[in-house]
Amino acid sequence: MKQTLLVKLAPAPEQHAALLRTLEAFNSACNVIAGVAYAHHMANKIELQKLVYYDIRQQFGLSSQMAIRAIAKVAEAYKRDKRIKPSFRPYGAMVYDERISNFPTADRVSLLTLDGRVEIPFRFGVYAVGMMQRRRGQCDLLYRTSSDTFFLAVTVDTSEPTPDEASDYLGVDLGIITLAATSDGEFLNHSAGPKHAHINQVRARYSRFRAKLQQQGTKSAKRLLRRRSRREKRFARDINHCLSKALVSTAKGTARGIALEDLNGIRARIATRRTVAGKRQRRVLHSWAFRQLRAFIAYKATLAGVRVVLVNPAYTSQTCSHCGHCAKASRRSQAKFLCVACGFSAHADLNAAENIRWAALSCSRTSRPLAG
Ligand SMILES: [Zn+2]
Repeated sequence: MKQTLLVKLAPAPEQHAALLRTLEAFNSACNVIAGVAYAHHMANKIELQKLVYYDIRQQFGLSSQMAIRAIAKVAEAYKRDKRIKPSFRPYGAMVYDERISNFPTADRVSLLTLDGRVEIPFRFGVYAVGMMQRRRGQCDLLYRTSSDTFFLAVTVDTSEPTPDEASDYLGVDLGIITLAATSDGEFLNHSAGPKHAHINQVRARYSRFRAKLQQQGTKSAKRLLRRRSRREKRFARDINHCLSKALVSTAKGTARGIALEDLNGIRARIATRRTVAGKRQRRVLHSWAFRQLRAFIAYKATLAGVRVVLVNPAYTSQTCSHCGHCAKASRRSQAKFLCVACGFSAHADLNAAENIRWAALSCSRTSRPLAG
């Protein structure tokens, strides 16, 4: 499976200017080449190169490889529809192959510009670092005029390990009070570091703070709000990376798949609950942070060759993982499960995680891939 990773570049002002100049020259050159291709009905890049190579290098100051890339881009566009002369936006995408780009470190890309090589840092999380190691071939330099920012579109190959039919599953119950409980009897928000124990307090604090600032509505309040929201996002992303990484490596290390509840099913289940806890859970389930955690688990699992199955969440919280008896009364509180039939007691989330594991074991053959 090929995937495109969009990486935001953080160039220094002079690097920014050099990239812009390069894109400008590259696309202007493309437009000139397009005129030649159209006039001569020439879609073959070798033939085209013979005609325009020296002129465009001289006119636009392009390096040899940049000129070849421009010619290839035009040939490709013209080949698609020979009735029209292709035209290129002033800051259209530019292909960077291995001859004019490389990655000296995990968080820097070196790109050739009209002013020589520039080494540009970019920011991304651990998840993307893993993906970057599966980089294949060339990348595209993109410029977004609206935000005046540069991106690198990198193609990564995620197809390598094929998930095996798992013989056992790590059942994972994702929630709000405990972010992740597993069928191994672990709470991941507790074991993955002290700060994770506080995520819910932090979340609540942020949302109170947000409400206050929104009420004020002043300019400085809005600015503060933006800064806060960025910080909140970084915080949640960091936690999601840690949690998903821990889950996937546990599953991988024990040659198991990962079982999660089907998100659509959870929504339906919680929408029918009219309790305070239900309301809080609804908010979390619809939040991007929760969806992001699931997405991270899916991506990291795919990369690691760990199978992910989704199970029907109906009754996972009311069923006894020990004897299978299902009764609403067994779920004593948010945290406590006590089976009315056999007397088995456990933390409610751990009991749910175990049920999710059992559900996966019994339906793994008909499971569908994780989405959403
Ligand atoms: Zn029981």
